[in-house]
Amino acid sequence: MTGFTPKSPVRYRHALLAVLAMAMSDGSVGADLSLEEQLVETAEIAQFVPEKALKQLLRLDRIARAAGPETKAEYLTQLSVARRGTGHQDQAIALADEAIALGKAQSSPVALAKGLMAKGELMLIMNELDKSHQLLWESERIATTTKDMALRIQTAILAGQAYAEDGNFPQALVHLQAAVALARQYEKPISTIMALNSMARLYRQMKDFDKGFDSLNEAIALATEINSPARMASLLNTEYLFAMDTGQPARGSRALLSALALQHQLGDTATIDITLVNLSDSYLKQKDYRNTLSYATQAIEAARRFNHEAVEATAHVNIGEAQLGMGRLADSKRSFETGLALYEKSGDKPALQSVLLEYGAALEQAGDMAGAVRAYHRERTISNALFEAQRQKAIWELQGKYEADKKERRIELLSRENQVKSAEIDNRRLQQRVWWLLAAVFALASLVVGILYRKIRHANSQLQVKNLELKQQSSRDPLTALYNRRHYQEFMRSHVPFEKRGVGTSGDEVVGALFLLDVDHFKAINDTHGHAAGDAVLKMIAENLGIILRETDMIVRWGGEEFLAFLPAVSRSGIDDIAHRLLTGISAQGIEYQGTRLSVNVSIGYAPFPLAPDGVPLPWERVVNLVDMALYLAKSHGRNRAYGIHGFADLGRTSMDAIEQNLEGAWRAGFVNMSTVLGGAADEVADARFDMAKEAAGMV
Ligand code: GH3
Ligand code: MG
Ligand code: MG
Repeated sequence: MTGFTPKSPVRYRHALLAVLAMAMSDGSVGADLSLEEQLVETAEIAQFVPEKALKQLLRLDRIARAAGPETKAEYLTQLSVARRGTGHQDQAIALADEAIALGKAQSSPVALAKGLMAKGELMLIMNELDKSHQLLWESERIATTTKDMALRIQTAILAGQAYAEDGNFPQALVHLQAAVALARQYEKPISTIMALNSMARLYRQMKDFDKGFDSLNEAIALATEINSPARMASLLNTEYLFAMDTGQPARGSRALLSALALQHQLGDTATIDITLVNLSDSYLKQKDYRNTLSYATQAIEAARRFNHEAVEATAHVNIGEAQLGMGRLADSKRSFETGLALYEKSGDKPALQSVLLEYGAALEQAGDMAGAVRAYHRERTISNALFEAQRQKAIWELQGKYEADKKERRIELLSRENQVKSAEIDNRRLQQRVWWLLAAVFALASLVVGILYRKIRHANSQLQVKNLELKQQSSRDPLTALYNRRHYQEFMRSHVPFEKRGVGTSGDEVVGALFLLDVDHFKAINDTHGHAAGDAVLKMIAENLGIILRETDMIVRWGGEEFLAFLPAVSRSGIDDIAHRLLTGISAQGIEYQGTRLSVNVSIGYAPFPLAPDGVPLPWERVVNLVDMALYLAKSHGRNRAYGIHGFADLGRTSMDAIEQNLEGAWRAGFVNMSTVLGGAADEVADARFDMAKEAAGMV
């Protein structure tokens, strides 16, 4: 078996030989020291003489557990180291976990780093390399955030060792160099020694023996200088490893014997089994089987006390090799099997594998081919199992990574879906808002349109009223409210000339009739009573005409004080009566004006309408003209009377033009048939029809 590299913890404190010597002397730690000072002392002792440290630590239990988190964590981790050193790993783990929990609960990075470190070292011993490395690196990471330089150096060394074990030599070198530099800077010689020792072992792993020896020699010089036998023993174990690697087993033995002497001197019981098993190994390489057996047997004894199964297993294998060398094949096989069983128990498959190879080679050498084949077969099985385990691990890792990727993608997908959904929701909300807005705008627009529509309707109806008013105004005379001349003209133009209306109930012919009235001496009213009085009289006449005539008759204000009445249906024989009614009706009515009673007479010219000499109806203008001429006759013949044209005679001897030129002349010549109605007293009027010829002859 090649040299045993102890996976032993390295917890180094400022401990001087004096302190250790005091501890070794079985005296209790000075009672006059503070708790912190006492813990500095027990730290070294716990490392090398755990049984003693345990006793001392347990005495401090009550006050240490009541201390602050950093001191309490220091106590718990030392107790963990001591428990581990005395073979109680379960308790050791529980104590490390307690320190971790304390660090977390109290938010104390120092306490947390110490707890993680203690647990990392425990995992290392228990062969849980991955866990151990993670814990140690985490511990270093946290320690760098603190001001505890000893802790920082210590964790840097352990982190470097973890990298070395992990095969990451460059990182290991970086951390160990940093640890050396820090230890030198803060003048912590024991830390410097241990950092250099780890560096030397790293160089050995890197097969850089020159540099390794440099580091080792520097460490040995420093250990001599400060007179630290505990450190020196550790360095001598390193020297043994270098000696074996460089083919100097005798030098290895010498180094180990020196280490052993120092350890005996210190009473170091915790690591002495390693020195012993290494000694057996160095003697085996020198084929010194007696010494091999002797030291291996001592190693087994020491290892058993602390349940160091790996050390014990190595010792058994060394014994087996020695026995083989001595030709004791059966004994050798037993020893090998015992060692192998222990390896198997400790679960150190790689060690088991390499031992089986050695075992097979040894049996082969001893001529036990069947045994050798069995050993090789076992090695193969383990190798296959290891390979399978590695393959499984790789698959698991791959699967884990695949699952993680898948999960990540799923999360990404979900979050993207989520984004899309929330965008959709936003969209819908926006759409809804737009719809609401549109609805609001529409409602508002409807309202406005409604209001506008009502306004327009109102304006239209107003307009209609106004138009009606305007039309009325344009067809009515403002003073009397009678139709005006223009309206009458329009009326006559749009109505076909009146035909004969047939026969009335009395057997008389029904015709239309035109009456033209002119107020007599109206100017005198204006002149005497003023224009307003004249207006009042005109209004009175208009009202009177409405009363005297029918509703169907059209009454028109023809001029200033002239009125035209168009009666659409009257009996031909009743026309004169109507003229009489008009004359008397108007003169009978009077009005009170400023204390004076005003009344007037009118003169009238009239004719039936249509008027058709020779059966051809005359245009209405010509009829009005003839009536006007009749009115003129009434005026000129004394006023307050009416002259009516009834027909024409003997038209062959004259013409309508001639008649229209001189009505009076034509009447006298007998071409026109006329009647005269007198106003004033009733008796005057009663038989007021004159024969045109008689009057013309001056008989009346
Ligand atoms: P005759 O008997 O010859 O008809 O005499 P007259 O004074 O009635 O006739 P004339 O034509 O000389 O005078 C008519 C007067 O009527 C003249 C005018 O000032 C007056 N007149 C016309 N229109 C109005 C009116 O609307 N109001 C008033 N107050 N007077 C009017
Ligand atoms: Mg007149
Ligand atoms: Mg007049």
